[in-house]
Amino acid sequence: MKITSPDLDSDSNSSEKPNLLSLRVIIFARCAASETAFYHVSTPISLQKFLEFTVTQRSIILRILPILLLTPILIGCPNTPQNGGEDGKTDTTKSATTNVLPDPAGMPEFNAQSAYDYVAKQVSFGTREPNSPGAKKAIAYFLEELGKLADTVYPQKFTHTGYSGAVLNLTNIVARFNPEAKVRILLCAHWDSRPRADMEQDESKQKQAIPAANDGASGAGVLLEIARILKETPQGVGVDIVLFDGEDYGDSDIDDTAQYFLGAKYFSSNLPPGTKPAFGILLDMVGDKEAEFAMEGNSLDFAYPVVVKLWKAASHLQLPAFKHERGGVISDDHIPLNKVAGIPTIDIIDIDLVGHNTLNPRRKYWHTLGDTMDNIGASTLGQVGKLLVYTIYKLIPDEMNQQQPA
Ligand SMILES: [Zn+2]
Repeated sequence: MKITSPDLDSDSNSSEKPNLLSLRVIIFARCAASETAFYHVSTPISLQKFLEFTVTQRSIILRILPILLLTPILIGCPNTPQNGGEDGKTDTTKSATTNVLPDPAGMPEFNAQSAYDYVAKQVSFGTREPNSPGAKKAIAYFLEELGKLADTVYPQKFTHTGYSGAVLNLTNIVARFNPEAKVRILLCAHWDSRPRADMEQDESKQKQAIPAANDGASGAGVLLEIARILKETPQGVGVDIVLFDGEDYGDSDIDDTAQYFLGAKYFSSNLPPGTKPAFGILLDMVGDKEAEFAMEGNSLDFAYPVVVKLWKAASHLQLPAFKHERGGVISDDHIPLNKVAGIPTIDIIDIDLVGHNTLNPRRKYWHTLGDTMDNIGASTLGQVGKLLVYTIYKLIPDEMNQQQPA
């Protein structure tokens, strides 16, 4: 991933915001105006009203329809009398429509040690940059493991012309649970290793690929454990787990982002059939022992309600790695998912690692040969995994219950 803007306060993407601003305006307006109308997503807006809009407005509405399906779980409406019962008191039977989050009791346990082992297994294959022997082993491993767990698994193979005309053979791994389900989410991470350790001080090491324990394997490890849980405790929600290749191929000295996010770009233009996920969660560098997950800037711009809801849930679950502060702005696999696929997607990422923007000397290993298992902590993987389990087994079902006719 790349830092899009080192100036955390700048609004460099403001020219790209209209759709999202419209999205937020519509959500907040509906939130405040009428809880009932807000949650009856089958008719989010009347046909007559729809036809009164301009072509641009109509296209915006059509683009946000998928997210409207799940907006109630994505955002806690502000505390207004409409959110409570008739007397204005909180109605606990409608937890998703209020700020009351569902009780985590009874949800499956995320096994942090198992996730850690999935990370270590990937690292044991050696570096996993495009066309490497380690990449081949990793692809075979993902297909075998996920083949045992998911309802449908397939490799999404494609080629890309890299630097100096190199032909890169790349493979995304797509694992689908409940492929026919109409309510679905996307969980994703990149699995590839960066082919050059360009943040090494020692120039002689800069051309080597990195072990990528955190910058790659950590997210994929969490998602393999999620897949194991989904197999063990089937659930009605559709979940697409996608592991992207080619996220970290780009050389920031040569170009901007043209050679980054290769797998996510390909996937975004070649989505699986059926219902599009209502939203997506990207994991990147989610394994450091002392990780801090601030709210990433592009995620806030593209999928604000998802960020707010998940960070609120993290507080509810008492997950200390999640910080209630705005972090830097990062270009990552979520950019094509938002812009090309139209799936509102957030990035859970340990932003301070990027550019070695941390005061902790141990944590200055991003894009170096030091990105090894030594930095990985099962407890961080466990926090991220627990939040995903809560989202799948509590937040979404809670919301779906809201939408059942009385
Ligand atoms: Zn990276």
